Amino acid sequence: MSSIAAGPLAVPLDAVFALADEGLAYVGATAEIVAWNEPAANLTGVAADVAIGSDVRRLFRGGDRIVAVPFDGCAHAVRLGPQNGALDVTIRASVVALNLDAQTHGWLCSFGPERRHRAIEQLKSEIVTAVSHELKTPIATIKAFAETLLENPAATQDERTDYLRVIEEQTDRLARSVDDLLLASRVDSEHLLRRRVETPVDDLIDAALASLHFDAVAHPVERTTAGVTVSGDPDLLTEVLRQLFDNAAKFSPPGCPITIDAQSSGRTTHVTIRDRGVGIPEEHLPHVFERFYRVERDLTAPAGGSGLGLFIVAALTRAHGGSIGIQSAAGGGSIVSLAFPTRLR
Ligand code: ADP
Repeated sequence: MSSIAAGPLAVPLDAVFALADEGLAYVGATAEIVAWNEPAANLTGVAADVAIGSDVRRLFRGGDRIVAVPFDGCAHAVRLGPQNGALDVTIRASVVALNLDAQTHGWLCSFGPERRHRAIEQLKSEIVTAVSHELKTPIATIKAFAETLLENPAATQDERTDYLRVIEEQTDRLARSVDDLLLASRVDSEHLLRRRVETPVDDLIDAALASLHFDAVAHPVERTTAGVTVSGDPDLLTEVLRQLFDNAAKFSPPGCPITIDAQSSGRTTHVTIRDRGVGIPEEHLPHVFERFYRVERDLTAPAGGSGLGLFIVAALTRAHGGSIGIQSAAGGGSIVSLAFPTRLR
């Protein structure tokens, strides 16, 4: 904690915000963000038009600690995390409570470059951990099975087919992880959407299930989607559904149906995917849209996954101007709800 000196200087806050290289935010008495400069947008990935007017407690995990900073003239360090897909990594803010005059009080927050550096370091180490786990496991399996095939020329045709099938499955897993990593690295790009067309939800579902080689016997797909369309890039929208069907199947026992429902209510198209699988324990729910976040389960649960699926889904949904929510409980299945504007802005 460090002290700041308060002198008789009266500089308009707007001027300070416009000139500063540091990310600066001003949070008003009701916890709403009142000012948000460009470096703050760059550092946090949250644009000014989204931040201004938002309740800081809803926008960031840890936002409640900003408005708890006392009026003691001291700078307090506050750690902010992602909330609803805002902010990819944890960053540190320095917060001072200000009493501008008798009526106006609020909290001045700064996000410094060295904090961005730390956030990048954290992201790098998360990438290394995820890559080393998620890519090394299938590579080791492929190598082991290829070696076994080479060293056993007398293996029967059935044994050879079994080994080759494992190699094929693990190669697919590897390819999916690489695709996820590449897509996750470009979801923030402004030019992500290559096309903007109206596509029937049924077509998107068909494309998603085909790309997954989905086993509809193990998981019958029940749809009430006829006649509903979504506006956007069909390849990316297919990717959204592909990730959600993949999760729904991965975390449901065979025989459990997956339900998808689509409805258009004038300005918004709602798409809901529901499974009746293992569900997500409550304490993990606020984090599942974070990059690389995985719910560790016991060894009997299905393995695999880079923790990028829901991060990608949330980012692609936002890129279409949409929003995402998840409801789940351990043992009670999961419902992912997507809402897309009927016309892209
Ligand atoms: P991954 O790409 O590894 O599947 P996700 O980002 O898609 O990761 O999901 C994050 C975590 O949330 C997963 O580790 C998984 O445990 C949990 N999860 C996601 N979807 C479901 C679901 N439908 N049912 C149960 N758990 C889920």
